[in-house]
Amino acid sequence: MRIGQGFDIHRFADDNRPLVLAGVTFVGERGLLGHSDADAVAHAVSDALLGAAGLGDIGQHFPDTDPQWKGADSMKILQAVVGKVHEAGWKIANVDVNLVCEQPKIAPQREKMQDNLSRVLGAPASVKGRRAEQLGSIGRGEGIMCLAVALLTS
Ligand code: MG
Repeated sequence: MRIGQGFDIHRFADDNRPLVLAGVTFVGERGLLGHSDADAVAHAVSDALLGAAGLGDIGQHFPDTDPQWKGADSMKILQAVVGKVHEAGWKIANVDVNLVCEQPKIAPQREKMQDNLSRVLGAPASVKGRRAEQLGSIGRGEGIMCLAVALLTS
């Protein structure tokens, strides 16, 4: 067995780009700034998987200087990461995600996010929402932070 952790943080954007988390669009919510679609969940889960498999990190495989990934659907990046993990001989046992933000509310979209992740991972995924209790940048509502752990088996 191997375990990996992933972390991502994005600030909210001032333009009216959509907010996308685990491939779910949160209608009417402020989007996040980023080279790709800024899906912090897809990025954190990708990093957890790559870390567990000893395959480096998302920046090595999908550099944000590469025009190919500009505005990219990050669930496609996650799908590519899953392929790399399988190629390296690992199976995904499960993934657990913590989203930390003041807005939006995560619970109403939780099942859709879990379903999207599970479909791409071929394994159970759980998503939990937490608030930062008005502490620090996330607590001031300046962005969204995501923490993920992934367990792999041979
Ligand atoms: Mg990111």
